[in-house]
Amino acid sequence: MTPAAYAVLNLDAVQHNLSKVRSRAPDAKVMAVIKANGYGHGMLRIAEALQQADAFAVARVDEGIRLRKAGFKHRIAVLEGFTCGEELDELLHYQLDAVVHSLTQLEIFEAVRLSSRQAGTEHGACAVWLKLDSGMNRLGFKAKEFDAAYQRLNQCALVKQPISLMTHFACADDFNDDKTLKQISLFNETVAGYTGERSMANSAGILGWEQSLTDWVRPGVMLYGISPFPDSTGQQLGLRPVMELHSRLIAVKQIEAGDTVGYGGSWTCERPTTMGIVAIGYGDGYPRYAKVGTPVLVNGRRVPLIGRVSMDMITVDLGAGIHAQPGDPVTLWGEGLPVEEIALWADTIPYTLVCGVTQRVQVIENATITKK
Ligand SMILES: *Cc1c(COP(=O)(O)O)cnc(C)c1O
Repeated sequence: MTPAAYAVLNLDAVQHNLSKVRSRAPDAKVMAVIKANGYGHGMLRIAEALQQADAFAVARVDEGIRLRKAGFKHRIAVLEGFTCGEELDELLHYQLDAVVHSLTQLEIFEAVRLSSRQAGTEHGACAVWLKLDSGMNRLGFKAKEFDAAYQRLNQCALVKQPISLMTHFACADDFNDDKTLKQISLFNETVAGYTGERSMANSAGILGWEQSLTDWVRPGVMLYGISPFPDSTGQQLGLRPVMELHSRLIAVKQIEAGDTVGYGGSWTCERPTTMGIVAIGYGDGYPRYAKVGTPVLVNGRRVPLIGRVSMDMITVDLGAGIHAQPGDPVTLWGEGLPVEEIALWADTIPYTLVCGVTQRVQVIENATITKK
């Protein structure tokens, strides 16, 4: 018997989605973003499915080390870079690319240059992505600080030449916001004189802003078959969803008008109906704030969520006169029920839903690709 709550991961879909990236950006190299445990899908299995990517990107040093230790030989960029000398040592040791976005990081590089260690002998050099803050106002150097940072990095013997150049979009999921075009021109102007490779586009850039395509693209969410835009699904964009979340009914009962359901008694039954109890809850990563009415597939049929989401269970209105029984299959998102739609019902974005699936949920890999 299948486990109660389980996720099916369609790994062939990952490869399909990578090919979609390549067809949108045929001249670009692809840095596949697999941070946060591969957006909740399992970093190593996603990396395996993405062997054909030109590089990987993770957020943290420990994620990069895990990938390296698992034997991946690709370039691996650490998007948050390093915050201390020890982390820089790890980047060097594991040959991870550092994103350099702050003065503190420059100073750490320069301290290494001045220290007794002979640069370039013990460790080799570190490949660097120098990051411009073109308007996101999160990580990166401002345009007016950029050249000074570039020149200082250039002086560091530990820094591999040439320095690569990147920026990140704040609003690329909104076609009506011209901020993206401003970010693109500011980036192009700022890096005009340098020789290194360039990278701007995330998924929304790849799918929506052709002007942002340059040497490297950095797709994340679209590789998992999810749309970066609020008003479309991955499927509508020609992507194939990777994750399906399933469970089953564990009880079915009749309720009467006036009965309330669940914690807080917040939902009141208006007419006699059949209620189903499903073994999935926020302890599995099903969103606690999914509203009453959120669609759930029971035996392939859409029924509405009723009452509050509990840790281990949700309740659904199966409808009067419906025959259903414990063990019947339930889909929380997947074929016929896009995760993007559930995200809207829960006032969130699909990124959080897939990232939030917990350890308790068993994973079933569905793939025809042969593993090495
Ligand atoms: C997460 C991230 C990406 C990928 O973004 P998606 O919207 O998932 O495609 C790209 N670049 C940087 C710097 C990121 O942090």
